[in-house]
Amino acid sequence: PSMAQNGRVTTDFKQSNQAHNSNAFARREEIRQQRESLPIASVKERLIEEVKKHDVLIIVGETGSGKTTQIPQFLFSAGFCREGKSVGITQPRRVAAVTVAKRVAEECGVELGQKVGYSIRFDDRTSGVTRIKYMTDGLLLREALLDPYLSRYSVVIVDEAHERTVHTDVLLGLLKNVQKKFPPLKLIIMSASLDARVFSEYFGGARAVHIQGRQHPVDILYTLYPEKDYVDAALVTIFQIHLEERHGDILVFLTGQEEIEAVERLVQERLRQLPESNRKLVTVPIFSSLPSEQQMRVFMPAPDGHHVDSHIQVVLATNIAETSVTIPGIKFVIDPGFVKARSYDPAKGMESLIIIPTSKAQALQRSGRAGREGPGKCFRLYPESEFEKLEDSTKPEIKRCNLANVILQLKALGVDDIFGFDFIEKPSRAAIVKSLEHLFLLGALTDDCKLSDPVGHQMARLPLDPIYSKALILASQFNCLEEMLITVAMLSVDSVFYAPREKLDESRTAAKCFASPDGDHITLINVYRAAEDLLEKRKWVPHTERNEKIFKAKSEKIFKRWCKENFINGRSVRHARDIHSQIRGHVEQMGLRITSCGDDMLQFRRCLAASFFINAALKQPEGNYRAFGTGQVVQIHPSSVLFQSKVECVVFNEMVQTTNKYIRNVTRIEYMWLTELAPHYYTMQS
Ligand code: ADP
Ligand code: MG
Repeated sequence: PSMAQNGRVTTDFKQSNQAHNSNAFARREEIRQQRESLPIASVKERLIEEVKKHDVLIIVGETGSGKTTQIPQFLFSAGFCREGKSVGITQPRRVAAVTVAKRVAEECGVELGQKVGYSIRFDDRTSGVTRIKYMTDGLLLREALLDPYLSRYSVVIVDEAHERTVHTDVLLGLLKNVQKKFPPLKLIIMSASLDARVFSEYFGGARAVHIQGRQHPVDILYTLYPEKDYVDAALVTIFQIHLEERHGDILVFLTGQEEIEAVERLVQERLRQLPESNRKLVTVPIFSSLPSEQQMRVFMPAPDGHHVDSHIQVVLATNIAETSVTIPGIKFVIDPGFVKARSYDPAKGMESLIIIPTSKAQALQRSGRAGREGPGKCFRLYPESEFEKLEDSTKPEIKRCNLANVILQLKALGVDDIFGFDFIEKPSRAAIVKSLEHLFLLGALTDDCKLSDPVGHQMARLPLDPIYSKALILASQFNCLEEMLITVAMLSVDSVFYAPREKLDESRTAAKCFASPDGDHITLINVYRAAEDLLEKRKWVPHTERNEKIFKAKSEKIFKRWCKENFINGRSVRHARDIHSQIRGHVEQMGLRITSCGDDMLQFRRCLAASFFINAALKQPEGNYRAFGTGQVVQIHPSSVLFQSKVECVVFNEMVQTTNKYIRNVTRIEYMWLTELAPHYYTMQS
């Protein structure tokens, strides 16, 4: 308006402004219509009444009916956010919290971070005026550490409860406690699975309501024979659909970032072999650790300036797309039938990620994604006889993970009797005992199983796996906290290097220039520092706004090329930089000294030994390694710089089990260090 008043506005500007206004108007109108046509819109008043009447309410509704995006807005308009209170909605996954918050902010016509915001580990987009707050279930648990009664919320909604992540389960237990003491906190549990009984029973026969969804028929197709290589089978199916069916987007369920990125590259390659007119296909990845600006791409109709009518989108997703986010336009689903899951062996105290068949419930959710907007097809890449053999539903995560983290948090919340805690489903006694033992070995617990001071309390404050928290605390004593911060950030992201099958040699050669003969941890530091140099060293330019801009654009370009030439995953490195700055903040707040050991990597390796002593392995005469803690025979993973080296003793961070048991992220240490630095675990006679 001020520009209009000074009379120097050109007609051009006015026109484009009008165009902008009418575009925005059309968009608002479109959103309004979309919202009104959602199945949930017609039951708004009834739902609000139910929430008013019941302190605990269970809402079951099919995916896409509008639970996650609409219910918080209903509550807001019904006055549940008075007196500065907020509605908090938890999601098991980061991506879901972010994308949904963005969508809801748009629906409300507000800027993200104002009335509507999200908060996830390492990324907070909320402010004092935020009233509808999406977050991960893990984050709300952390908030409970500072505010045990969650007094800033009038309603807490636990969304996607059917996923039964370990954080959801613990959160439910905690909320049940909070509710006893503070009746006004309303609790809503939302689930996509029809079985509300477990939740209802857990909350003393709480009321459950069902919301009808809209589902079109989906044809289910099976393969005749089992597929040897499901990635290849998925690829063949993508192109079959692309060439035969012509329209409708495709959603492919894969197990993780690495696999998704491999399929992305393979699709590109096959496209290049097709005639120009057949190349109208774009891939869009979606997985949890994807930077948030890229996560929204699945919802955009025109990636890279192409139009959706002319291009088929192939969405490559992890099980995020089962229920957490609804992607519009999907007509075909390709389901190889696998999922990456945590698995824990309490006898050995070893947690690992393994790829396992989905449950029947998951397979049904996946196929349902094809029938959102019209009839669809789902290609299950296994024979029908295999479907019958699947488990009915997925085992709750709390029954198959290391509980050290959970126990640390419960203790910090003042729950000392872990065995007596009212879990919705109790983890096994053996798993609890083993995890307590693990925490004790890390020095987090005293002899009578209380949090130790200061180490245990410090560990509980850091949003990291306890073993990484301990490593940071120790590193400040070993004068290598700077190196350890980088290491922990790099270990917190998925694969930094990638090795495409067709360019294996090339990628291995490229990786060598970062390789440290001492192992993977120092190698990761080398990569991080090289990236940092490219993105940040600006000594040669005087600081002006213009120069900054040019530098940024230039360094981004150089960084991209550098990543490509070195087979480095730029996404992962950027993510690691984010995480790094966040943990750095925590560590500074805790008053730890951030110093570098410079070139004295011996010091750093000693610190790794002191931190990861539970995961040490010794070379065996026949060439394998034996893990001390578990007695298991393992091999160094081919991706490690120490693969095929002959070092005597190593520490490692991860064990993966495929045909063999492999250890990953491995560094060479001296056996004697273990008895010196972790005498409580390694006695001289061993
Ligand atoms: P539910 O939680 O019941 O599964 P949601 O509230 O997540 O349902 O979604 C309701 C509708 O809003 C869906 O039809 C979905 O397509 C649409 N939607 C959700 N998020 C977005 C987004 N980021 N962009 C566009 N549409 C979205
Ligand atoms: Mg939802």
